[in-house]
Amino acid sequence: MKTNNIVEKNQEITGEVVDVTYEGLGVIKIDNFPIFVADTLPGEIVQLGITKVLNNYAFGRLIKRIKTSPERIENEHAEMITSGIAPLVNWKYESQLKFKQNSIKQLFHKVGIDDVDILPTIGMENPTRYRNKTVVPIKYQDGKLTTGFYRRGSHKIVPIDDYYLNDSKIDQVVGITRDILNKHNVSAYDEISRKGILRYVMVRRGYFTGELMLVIVATENKLPNEENIISDLKKAIPDLTSLILNHNPKQTNVQLGLENRTLAGNDVIHDKLLGIDFVISPNSFYQVNPQTTEILYQKAAELAELNGDEIAIDAYSGIGTIGLSIANKVKQVIGVEVVEAAVKNAQINKETNEIKNADFIANDAPEQFIKWSKEGLKPDVVFVDPPRKGLTPELISALGEMAPNKFIYVSCNPATLARDAVEIIEKGYKISRPILPIDQFPQTMHIESITVFEKMLNK
Ligand code: SAH
Repeated sequence: MKTNNIVEKNQEITGEVVDVTYEGLGVIKIDNFPIFVADTLPGEIVQLGITKVLNNYAFGRLIKRIKTSPERIENEHAEMITSGIAPLVNWKYESQLKFKQNSIKQLFHKVGIDDVDILPTIGMENPTRYRNKTVVPIKYQDGKLTTGFYRRGSHKIVPIDDYYLNDSKIDQVVGITRDILNKHNVSAYDEISRKGILRYVMVRRGYFTGELMLVIVATENKLPNEENIISDLKKAIPDLTSLILNHNPKQTNVQLGLENRTLAGNDVIHDKLLGIDFVISPNSFYQVNPQTTEILYQKAAELAELNGDEIAIDAYSGIGTIGLSIANKVKQVIGVEVVEAAVKNAQINKETNEIKNADFIANDAPEQFIKWSKEGLKPDVVFVDPPRKGLTPELISALGEMAPNKFIYVSCNPATLARDAVEIIEKGYKISRPILPIDQFPQTMHIESITVFEKMLNK
């Protein structure tokens, strides 16, 4: 039996939940040694059984709740917590919003920035079924193709049909697709034997257009019995806009491969944000919560206090959404994005919407910033919207050289935001307004926010 002298497997412990992990697990500490337990809220006192002990932490299973948090709501979606799909589903929504606001404060405190205010998180009126996209693993289990989620630390899928956060139409399409592929006896990829075809089913739906894209991710670039599968899918999902086979033959955790073949309908779907029409390819990033995304972009533009004369950079520009939505408020927009398919979408989006003053470059953002700073580009305002890992020191350095007056940081990870803020401040900037969190991801631990940095005049 594994032991670390503090706790051991099967031991029963009672303790208070003092923190929450990034995955939404409650944290109990015994002599500073953390134990993670699902479905426990801060302040609750719980009795738990130790299920797994590692060197620096352990996992436990809830046996009994001795003190229940007033922030808890009971609901019938318990599997959303174990699946990790919606780990905060048992928190009152108001307390999720407060928790996100406080988390940002604490993360800035950790890096030594205390003179920053955080506004209350802007939430959703109906914080469920907001997701416009899902990617679901598909496996052969118990004699049939199964879709659902992987239980933590397991390779077995727990079947579910209602993902709670997805647009319900998306959940329906996942189920229909699985059943049709099953009827045609298509095999699923098996990580151990490395044989089999199907890997994931991805569905994306335009919130404002209703356009529907179904992507079957497979290890082959042709499905057996393909014609019949296509015809069955078209019959069962008459409003399908785009049916794509994505080829991902590699042994990898990356879900989508780079090659797409359109089996029926269009190569892209359209959606609208702030009245602008966007095309979206399977590999392009598109914000998953279209309702709050409109607020996010509007607020980012508002906080930048644009005057119509600026040269604006949109870094990590995806399909050009931020850049194109502010184009009529500035003189010129230059976007940079690493995924070529997304840059192609951005160029089409610029043309269809007859926006003349925007350009998008396919490149690594830090590399492009270095290039721009060497060329002597002097933007007035820079928007960045990086992935979870945040910015790089090279990008921040080049930004310091280009010295824009305003720098708007749209972040989906306050830990890297706070880390980067330290360096941005060293380059002569100050956080000039309270940070604004917007709840792009209700029922999950993800935290989106906008921070405005302004150049200090004496530096
Ligand atoms: N602003 C866009 C996209 C934000 S998501 C929107 O709101 O929709 C972050 C984007 O950064 C993704 O499109 C991703 O492909 C891109 N990206 C990731 N690493 C990058 C890098 N090193 N250089 C440029 N873009 C990158």
